[in-house]
Formats: sequence, C-alpha cells, structure tokens
Amino acid sequence: MRKVLLILGVGSALLAATALVVTQTSSGQNVLLKRLIAARLLDAPLVWEDPDVLRVFVCGSASPLGVSDRAQSCIVVAAGSTFFIVDTGAGSTRNLLRAQVPMQSLTGVLFTHFHSDHISALGDTNLASWVAGRTTPLNVYGPRGVVRVVDGFNEAYALDRTYRTMHHGSELLPPEIGAMQPQLIVSGKVVEVGEFKITPFSVDHGPVEPAVGYRFDYRGRSVVISGDTNAVQSTAVASRDADLLLHDALSRPLVDAMKDAVTSVGNVRMAQVIDDILDYHADTDSLIEVAREAGVTMLALYHLVPAPANTIVKSIFGRGLPADVRIVDDGTVFNLAANTDAIEVVQIF
Ligand SMILES: [Zn+2]
Ligand SMILES: [Zn+2]
Repeated sequence: MRKVLLILGVGSALLAATALVVTQTSSGQNVLLKRLIAARLLDAPLVWEDPDVLRVFVCGSASPLGVSDRAQSCIVVAAGSTFFIVDTGAGSTRNLLRAQVPMQSLTGVLFTHFHSDHISALGDTNLASWVAGRTTPLNVYGPRGVVRVVDGFNEAYALDRTYRTMHHGSELLPPEIGAMQPQLIVSGKVVEVGEFKITPFSVDHGPVEPAVGYRFDYRGRSVVISGDTNAVQSTAVASRDADLLLHDALSRPLVDAMKDAVTSVGNVRMAQVIDDILDYHADTDSLIEVAREAGVTMLALYHLVPAPANTIVKSIFGRGLPADVRIVDDGTVFNLAANTDAIEVVQIF
C-alpha cells in the first residue's frame, strides 16, 4: 500500500513539474503556442463552402438596447463559394473570424438600412476580406443612401488602405480591391448572383426610410431576413412559404421593466428613448401572426430588443411564444440542405 502511495505521489509530482515547465518557461510556452495555433487553424467549426447546403449564421443578434456580450445585427447567408453578410453591426467581425468564415469569398454586404448598429463594422469587414485575399472590390448593396454611406466609409479608411498597401506591397494588397463599390437595390427588384435569387422588400421602420428586408432563394430553399421593422404585411408577403424567417423582435415585458427601472431613478431622458423604441420594432406577440400568415416553416428572432444577457432574461423574452420559435444567439447556425425540407440548428460557439 505504501509503495502504491509512493508511486502515486511521485507521479503527481512529475506531472506538476511538467505542467510547470510547459506553462512557466519560454520554451514550454512556445511549444504550447505552436500547438494551439495549429489546432485553431485546422479546427474550423464548419465546412463553409458546401454547395448542397444553404447556411445561415448569426454573426450578431443584439440591438443597441441592453448590455450583453452579443454583437449587433449581422447575418451570414452562404452556399458553395458565394456568401453574403446582411448588416455589419458592432462586434460582428470578431464573430466572423471566430467562425472561420472564408472572408476571401465574401460576395457582398447587404444593408437593410443605415442605423449605426447595422453598419458600424463595415470598415473592419472590408479590411478582413481584403487581407484574406478577395480578388474583386467588395459590393455593398443597399437602398437609397448606400452610395453616401459607402463613399463615407471609403473616405474614412483611405489612409488606412494606403498604409497597408505601402507596408505589405500592392501585390498582396492591391489598392483597387480595397475600396468598396456601392450597389443600389430597389424593393421588389430581384438581384441574381450565382445561383442566388435575392429579393429586397420594403418594411416599416419609420422615420427610417427606406428600410428593407431580404429574401434569399437557393436550390429550393429560402430564408427571409426582416431587418428592423414592425410586424407588417410586406414581410408576410415576401416570406410566403419560406423555410426560415429571421425577424427583428422586441420583448414588451423586458422593455417595460427597463423603462420602469430608469423612471424610478429619475432618468427621464432614458425613459423617453425607451418609449421611442416601442413604435418601430416588432413586439414578440405580433410576430406569430406574420409567420402564420406567411406559412413559414421556422420563425427565429434576432436583433433582440433588449439583448438578453443571460438565460433567465432570454426565457422572459420567450414568454408567450410557441416552443418552436427560436431566439437566436451569436453563433447559431441554420443548415438547410438543398432541395429538402430539413432545417438543422446548431450552436458553433
Ligand atoms: Zn434600425
Ligand atoms: Zn437596429
């Protein structure tokens, strides 16, 4: 018995010493670092470039209201080597890189409207894609106003692009690929890119006008992204028989509780801001009717107002909703196999 204890003791001491050498010495740390980087490079959470799956990845699920570690509005729609990002809210680039999205294949960014929580990461997104090796200028689609916004970003990042080309050389970072191209879309006018059919439609986010949502059709599957809007007929029409509807959503119980809290501490200004928000986002109750009328297979809520910071708040957000309605998180992925009815939902981080 004593012998066994002695062996165990020596074994533990050896393990502790090894751990100390690996984590506390420069050479040990270097070995560990090499292995971690190699594992990270090899361990992509998804095979992105699969032409037989229409893939929807939530790269940002938050609205500006609420404090959480979620990124703001961002949805990837991808199939094969074609992929789009709908809105580039703050923090979304970090999620794109974390998911190892093939940024060099970024086909286009589509804006639903130009509120800051939908556009603020455009510069970072363009840069990440340019550095990854995109071979044509990035197309940025949006309703009226897109030229002004894209021109503004191009100007704001002009010096940055110059520095990077000077530093890495024009072969690695060609300057003509670095600046983005605005592409004006019109509601109801279909845009065809590869096998994708993209249909923009008008929504109600007044006083923000124009504001649009997008329907994507690909090999017998379809996904609709509402953008910011009240529950409106145009979304129901555009979502007719769609497989998946991702809709902006506001939780009335949570927003009311926030308003009561700020009012009770005398923050009249914030109470007014919260009050103003109520009339241009869809509250959760109103969405059931839209999804039912459209006949969509799955309703998923994003652009969460407020963004739930934990599971308790998330469960309050879901009060009164049917069990099959999804409240997404950053990292939620929907896989829609081409020409089937299947929708697989996975969480990749
Ligand atoms: Zn908005
Ligand atoms: Zn928004």
